[in-house]
Amino acid sequence: MEFRNLKKQYQTLKSEIDEAVGRVLCRADFVSGKEVGELEHALSEFTGVRHCITCANGTDALVLALRAWNVGRGDAVFVPDFTFFSSAEAPALCGATPVFTDIGTDTFNMSPASLERVIQAVISEGKLVPKVVLAVDLFGQPADYDAIGRIARRYGLLLLEDGAQGFGGKRGEKRACSFGDIATTSFFPAKPLGCYGDGGALFTDHDGWAALLRSLCVHGKGMDKYENIRIGTNSRLDTLQAAVLLVKLKQFAETELEAVNAVAQAYRESLLEIEEVRVPCLEEHSYSSWAQFSVLLGDQVDRGELQEYLKDAGIPTMVYYPKPLHEQAAFAGCVLYDEMCGAGYCCGHVLSLPCSPYMDRQEVDLVCDTIAQFMKKRR
Ligand SMILES: *Cc1c(COP(=O)(O)O)cnc(C)c1O
Repeated sequence: MEFRNLKKQYQTLKSEIDEAVGRVLCRADFVSGKEVGELEHALSEFTGVRHCITCANGTDALVLALRAWNVGRGDAVFVPDFTFFSSAEAPALCGATPVFTDIGTDTFNMSPASLERVIQAVISEGKLVPKVVLAVDLFGQPADYDAIGRIARRYGLLLLEDGAQGFGGKRGEKRACSFGDIATTSFFPAKPLGCYGDGGALFTDHDGWAALLRSLCVHGKGMDKYENIRIGTNSRLDTLQAAVLLVKLKQFAETELEAVNAVAQAYRESLLEIEEVRVPCLEEHSYSSWAQFSVLLGDQVDRGELQEYLKDAGIPTMVYYPKPLHEQAAFAGCVLYDEMCGAGYCCGHVLSLPCSPYMDRQEVDLVCDTIAQFMKKRR
């Protein structure tokens, strides 16, 4: 069994993808070819956001957004303690200070209550200037933007949505990547919408920021690329990747989102019977793109043993994430402004199971049955 079945996806889309790639190879416009613009238009339609700017990867997307807002030394960027490293790496790379907030163990997303405590503590300490709330749509579910948005507005902070794992998710009828003042995503192969290498995108309704981001992506270009009006960088999506993504986006919207939700639903129903396993919670009116299907194991369960047992049955699993960000060596000495109980708990108990739109019911049953067997043997 594959953790995320990308080979089956390619087999399903092979003729269309091969043709799309072939067209680019024949034209040889490998950078800034016409598919890049077409993809940006399609992504903007899909998310309902006015501007989409593609770039080289999801980490660059975060850095570009922060640079567009002039975030740097002395600024605080509020980041959940339980997420992929990039979410905190990007503000640090800009010279700003990532300030960690705790998460809720039901959704794995930023806790609005912790966010507010942390903002107040930073304000009363008076050393850093609060600038940005960087919320993450972890494992596919959008963060609680009603509460987080209110807090950001109350304290005059910009909201940056890290939708690297959230693309395709929704709150009500609003799509992930439409909640932030700027939102970002990643097209790393294993993300909900992945390409065949690295890729990323930014989304915003703000005309000025969109223009600035377009310039920053291409060496700070002005009216044309040989006029440079600011220091930017080289961060573009390849035409080949855009061509692949145009094929994949169609499939994503038409079948994959629904299929992966059916897989998650099957998991939730079967795992409900196993008391040592807590299935992920969806908030009301929330729709996940299931970047990961992550469960929380009971205190008595030895996670390593369960992983070994599943591995022997041919079932790969992953621990996303084994360490809270504040414990990463790169952030040694960081100041904590709240207790990170939720993040600590999730790191110790979380386990991500194989999940993709191409997983069939028998595979889901095999995973659930094998977990049930393990628990029974152990009791
Ligand atoms: C993958 C990921 C990123 C970074 O994306 P890359 O394209 O790999 O640079 C950022 N944030 C989160 C939450 C991610 O999962």
